[in-house]
Amino acid sequence: MTAAWRVLLLGGTGEALRIARRLGPADVYSLAGLGKVPDDLACAVRVGGFGGSAGLARYLAEQRIGLVIDATHPYAAQISANAVAACGVAQVPCWALRRPGWQPQHDDDWRMVGDWAELVAALAPFERPLFTLGREPLAHLDEIPVHQFWTVRCLDAHEGRPRARILATRGPFSLESERALFADAAFDVVISKNSGGGATQAKLDVARERGLPVLMLRRPMLPPVEREFDDVAALLDAWSSASSQSITE
Ligand code: NAP
Repeated sequence: MTAAWRVLLLGGTGEALRIARRLGPADVYSLAGLGKVPDDLACAVRVGGFGGSAGLARYLAEQRIGLVIDATHPYAAQISANAVAACGVAQVPCWALRRPGWQPQHDDDWRMVGDWAELVAALAPFERPLFTLGREPLAHLDEIPVHQFWTVRCLDAHEGRPRARILATRGPFSLESERALFADAAFDVVISKNSGGGATQAKLDVARERGLPVLMLRRPMLPPVEREFDDVAALLDAWSSASSQSITE
C-alpha cells in the first residue's frame, strides 16, 4: 500500500502481522522480541523495547513517524499506555486495533478475577487447573498447593515440577485438539485471559461442553486513542482512505 505517512506498527499478534503485510518499505513493524520475528515483510522490522514512553517519543521524532498503529495484545497494557503518551508528546496520531472480548454464553460459568492473588483464592477448591494466560504461572510453580496438579500452556519451554506440566505451544488451537487435551488431562477448571478472537477460543467451547468453570482475568483499562478499530479490515480501509486524502492534499 502506498501511504503518505511513515507508519510505526506496534505488534506481537496475528492481526498485527496481517497489517504488517500491507506496510511498505518506509514503514516499521515493532516487536517486543518474545515470539517469532517474520523475515518476509516488505517493511522494516525492529525488535525490543523503546525505553518507556519517553524513549518511544524520541524514536517517533527521530524516525519521522507520521502514524502509530497499536495492534498489540489487549493485555499488553504498558506498551499501549506508552504509545498514547509518546504520541501526545511527539504530536503523532495514534490508532489502535482493539479486539472485542469474548462474551459468556448462558450456560457458561465464568468467574472474573482481577489479579494473581484473586486468581489463587478462586482456584483453591480445584485440583486440576489448565492455565492459558501466558508465562505468569511459571513464577509460582513452587507455590502449588498440595492438592493441585497444574497444567500451564504458554510459549516458554520449562522443565516443570512434580506437580506441574508445562505445554510449550503456540496457537491457534482447534476444537478437536482442545477436546483431546481436555479428555486426556481431566481438567476441572480453565484459567484464561479474555483475549477475544478465534485463535484460542476453542478452549472455552470445550469448557462449556464439559461444564467446567472458567476463571477469567479481567481486561486491563486502555487509554483512549484518536481512532479505534475492532477488526483489521476496518483499520486498513481507514488507513487507505486517510492516506489517499493526504496524498492528494
Ligand atoms: P507490555 O507489558 O504492555 O509491555 C512491556 C514492555 O515491552 C513495553 O513497555 C515495551 O518496552 C516492550 N514492548 C511491548 N510490546 C512492544 C512492541 N510491540 N514493540 C516494542 N516494544 C514492545 O507487553 P506484554 O504484555 O509483556 O506483551 C509483550 C508483547 O507480546 C506485546 O507486543 C504483545 O502484543 C505481545 N503479546 C502479549 C500477550 C499478553 O497476554 N500480554 C499475548 C500475546 C502477545 P519499553 O517500555 O522498553 O518500550
